[in-house]
Amino acid sequence: MKIGIIGTGYVGLPTGVGLAELGNDVTCIDKDLNKIDSLKNGKITIFEDGLEELYLKNIKNGKLKFTTSMKDGVENADLVMIAVGTPPHPVTKEADMKYIYAAAEELAEYITGYTVIANKSTVPIGTGDEVEKIIKDKNKKADFDVVSLPEFLREGFAIHDFFNPDRIVVGSNSGRASDVLRTLYKPFENKSNMLFVKRRSSETIKYASNAFLAMKIHYINEMANFCEKVDADVFEVAQGMGTDTRIGNKFLNPGPGYGGSCFPKDTNAMAYMARQNCINLSLIETTIKRNDERKAEMAERIINAVSDVAKSKIGVLGLAFKNGTDDCRESPAVQIIEHLIEKGAKNIKAFDPKALDNAKQILKNQISYAIDEYDAAKDADILVVLTEWKEFRDLDFNKVKKLMKTPKIMDLRNILNFEEIKNFGFEYHSIGRQHTPCKVK
Ligand code: NAD
Repeated sequence: MKIGIIGTGYVGLPTGVGLAELGNDVTCIDKDLNKIDSLKNGKITIFEDGLEELYLKNIKNGKLKFTTSMKDGVENADLVMIAVGTPPHPVTKEADMKYIYAAAEELAEYITGYTVIANKSTVPIGTGDEVEKIIKDKNKKADFDVVSLPEFLREGFAIHDFFNPDRIVVGSNSGRASDVLRTLYKPFENKSNMLFVKRRSSETIKYASNAFLAMKIHYINEMANFCEKVDADVFEVAQGMGTDTRIGNKFLNPGPGYGGSCFPKDTNAMAYMARQNCINLSLIETTIKRNDERKAEMAERIINAVSDVAKSKIGVLGLAFKNGTDDCRESPAVQIIEHLIEKGAKNIKAFDPKALDNAKQILKNQISYAIDEYDAAKDADILVVLTEWKEFRDLDFNKVKKLMKTPKIMDLRNILNFEEIKNFGFEYHSIGRQHTPCKVK
């Protein structure tokens, strides 16, 4: 199949690479000239495990091409996917649709023959109708259908998830378009659930799924707070809950609150849509509010663990919003650091295995950047784990202890072994495992 993908970011690029690997002829289109130049020259623009090898293989065999020209990517394509950003509006927090609508306008004139236009971006309910209207208005003769094709990949596992999808959801009001998608996803027919639903249902499925996952994270964070007060262990509680198949064991790791480019934006967009439709999604509204507050609460924990935040050196492990990615958008690590700075911290040194460059663009010279984990720990009064990178588990903790001014670790991702770290002689703080009784009883 000949496929054009508009937007070559965290969704568009892995999707393009995966579809090329399946044998399709894929052209990735982006208006960012630097990105396209780099990708044309064999220089990958994002980090995802396994992505680079497949990308290089498929540009070499000619299955994967990159262009800034909408014409080159859309003309003669059987399928065009729109995978541009839908960032939150700075005031209302609704999804900002300017990139989607611009892409629809720009692609319309190059449609030749029957073409399926698939919205891969996460878009408000009714966007399919709007995109259809924009294309029709711009190109009266175009023979096309618009489908919703929500993306469920997890950053950090994008390639794994592309080839092993739990489910593929197609929101289509046209049998002809559904057949095109059925053909495209034939390689997955025996290993994943394929759901054909109404276009508006599909658009809703994406938001409803992300909001549910965000609430699940918020729920276990609240349970962690509860465990601390009643002297229970949230690890054990999560394990006990997670073995119930109705609950499931995923997304039951307490931490500093969810972040990233999806959950915060999608929960806000959904709450906005509900308000516009006279519905109060109270669970989601509470989740948004409490998740925002959690970052400040985590910063307070760090401040309380040192004697004077202004004079303390704070070593930070992790800046990405989660492990496996270099993405720092809405990263809890970055937000906690910003709170610390606001509260007077002057000496923060941070390390991340993949996200240093992206973090530098946000935090600039407000903090310093370490060359490795040990450099972050050197002379620190406290070492804080803010991203759950596996490599942080395997540090030489004898060395870390010798380097630090005070052997104190605050593990806000609960990734270190509680007993082991204590045996090394650290004062160890984690989440949901240490009894901090309520003062007013
Ligand atoms: P991104 O910001 O990484 O990439 C978007 C790309 O689109 C950018 O490179 C930008 O230059 C390009 N672009 C914008 N307008 C364009 C135009 N008119 N023509 C050509 N290129 C254009 O965004 P992302 O993280 O890949 O997310 C894309 C969409 O997918 C969003 O709606 C997001 O919510 C959704 N989504 C993201 C993830 C994720 O893990 N990041 C997962 C599922 C769904």
